[in-house]
Amino acid sequence: MFNKILIANRGEIACRVAATAHRMGIRTVAVYSEADALAKHVAACDESVPIGGSSPKESYLRWERIIEAARATGAQAIHPGYGFLSENEDFARACAEAGLVFIGPPASAIQAMGLKAESKRLMEQARVPLVPGYHGADQDPAFLKQQADRIGYPVLIKASAGGGGKGMRAVDKPEDFEAALASCQREARNSFGDDAVLIEKYVQRPRHIEIQVFGDTQGNYVYLFERDCSVQRRHQKVLEEAPAPGMTPQMRQQMGEAAVAAARAVNYVGAGTVEFIVEQRGGGEMNFFFMEMNTRLQVEHPVTEAITGLDLVEWQLRVAAGEPLPLRQDELRIRGHAIEARICAENPDNNFLPATGRLRVYRKPRCSEFVTARVRVDDGVREGDEITPFYDSMIAKLIVHGDTREQALARLDEALAATRIVGLATNVQFLRYVVRSRSFSQADLDTALIPREQAVLFNQEPVGLPTAAAAAVAHALEREQALEGADPFSRRDGFRSHGAATRRFAFEFGGRHQEAELTYQHGGGLQFTVDGASGPLDWRRDGDALEVQFAGRRVRTHVHALGETDHVFTPQGATQIVAVDLLAHAGEGAVEGGRLTAPMPGKVVSFAVKAGDSVKKGQALAVMEAMKMEHTIAAPADGTVAEVLYAPGDQVAEGAELLKLKG
Ligand code: ADP
Ligand code: ADP
Ligand code: MG
Repeated sequence: MFNKILIANRGEIACRVAATAHRMGIRTVAVYSEADALAKHVAACDESVPIGGSSPKESYLRWERIIEAARATGAQAIHPGYGFLSENEDFARACAEAGLVFIGPPASAIQAMGLKAESKRLMEQARVPLVPGYHGADQDPAFLKQQADRIGYPVLIKASAGGGGKGMRAVDKPEDFEAALASCQREARNSFGDDAVLIEKYVQRPRHIEIQVFGDTQGNYVYLFERDCSVQRRHQKVLEEAPAPGMTPQMRQQMGEAAVAAARAVNYVGAGTVEFIVEQRGGGEMNFFFMEMNTRLQVEHPVTEAITGLDLVEWQLRVAAGEPLPLRQDELRIRGHAIEARICAENPDNNFLPATGRLRVYRKPRCSEFVTARVRVDDGVREGDEITPFYDSMIAKLIVHGDTREQALARLDEALAATRIVGLATNVQFLRYVVRSRSFSQADLDTALIPREQAVLFNQEPVGLPTAAAAAVAHALEREQALEGADPFSRRDGFRSHGAATRRFAFEFGGRHQEAELTYQHGGGLQFTVDGASGPLDWRRDGDALEVQFAGRRVRTHVHALGETDHVFTPQGATQIVAVDLLAHAGEGAVEGGRLTAPMPGKVVSFAVKAGDSVKKGQALAVMEAMKMEHTIAAPADGTVAEVLYAPGDQVAEGAELLKLKG
């Protein structure tokens, strides 16, 4: 076994690899960019080496530097994690040439599976079922159109070099094909430097079910069962679970054997995932087709660890060191049910726009880190850390394990309720809505689950004004009393200093101005009135929780104040309420008008308009790219473009004015 390895990655996966290495007595070397100098993954390793600037191109993708760092520190092997260099065959080769072990498959296997079209040609030979389609070399647009017509609509155009949900266009009818092809090729060229595409049948209401495989250098293969990753947004996974609901032992064996055949066809070694798209026929019958193979450890590997009781990183290290697979196929068993939720910095109510910012508050449920438990959290950040625009928007992975799916679901909901993040937008509350939705809770899974359930997933208010306002007021009064306790003359409430028995509060809640009233009673009690509800208000502190009693309800809350905003967390969900100081804000609220600013730091991809154009409310004006995704900036109102302030390709800061509109 190795004495020392270098981890060529950052964030949660770097910490994850370090945890297993540490347990196995292997020393670890971290590499880090400027933005990550104080990052958790650096602290998690025994040594660390700076490798350059914050953007991946200047650091995590500079493999000469990484190999140099491995040599300088005496590391014997490099673990690439996922993303970055993990599926780069040139890097795998360069490691070998430098006398370092690449903890992953041989470069030839990465290459064979690297392009979706070529890998499909190989899979055809290996008799792995494929979605009907065209994955040949002819890229003439007229020929591709003929192929689409032959396959029958809807079809999916995919960038052969694509990944991460990018470079895909669904086409419903022949008239739309040409434009979709051009746009797909453009994105493929920009994102992957290769505009080759393949065309395949768009499977209706499909499930995404993937098989975890493992191979060793002696030619042994096993499959570690399946993961269902059907719940997606923008073709990216949101929730992953194992085993897949409805999976029969026969189908599991068929898919497992097909996945092993795929791995064998490319002499695969190490951890890999074969992704299948599954067509649901009537009566629970399912057809599966090969989609692609990811030649690396997958983000969602912890659900497989939970149901098998294994440590996949340990297996990777053993196989890379030349050991045989620790277990045979007939020694592998499934235990219970596991679900992973990806907690991301993003705003689900605004088309999942990624968010950046500081984790002012980051509290986790009671959990283990990087090892299977009822509740496990894998993350690469700590409270106070920043989610920057340089890397992807995942904050943490929450993995639950139960005896049954129902138990896992209940644990997931409870763990999400106990996950409190303040400082930037997250999808935590959205995940709870998904978990509780009819489709997910009844395991009615397919990739259209989120759009189908949208009525209960978006723009919901889980807490309600009375509870939010009561919690905010109770929290404020508790703090005032704490001050008063320290110095009785500092008491500032209306009752004592001015003899007035009533205090008024104003709030912003759910985008609306709201008012509330608090009356001090002679007996010492408080009467609170808000939004038509009226009754005694009382509270009790219990550790970091505040039990608030109002209008006949007792709610256990956590209130975190950030500036004027109170972030109120309850078992039902989380909300925000802004305490408005009426005097300080008098006269505010005039619309600034005409300014269109970048919602996040990123790159300007294109402008759809030029100065002098008249635009309609909602019309797309510009496209920005940040955190792996494209975002469209739309006109907030009808008007005329006065000025365009940047050019495509420009890097802009959050809040930068992109163009000026006149009314
Ligand atoms: P998985 O396939 O493991 O479920 P993703 O598809 O979300 O997970 O990809 C895992 C990570 O790998 C992403 O967070 C991203 O950083 C990276 N990644 C995957 N594909 C690409 C790609 N084509 N270009 C850049 N990064 C990618
Ligand atoms: P990536 O490399 O970006 O992960 P994949 O080929 O794995 O690309 O596809 C990503 C997702 O797109 C799948 O999980 C599935 O939701 C959807 N998808 C892919 N192929 C098809 C298809 N033929 N029909 C319907 N949906 C598909
Ligand atoms: Mg995929």
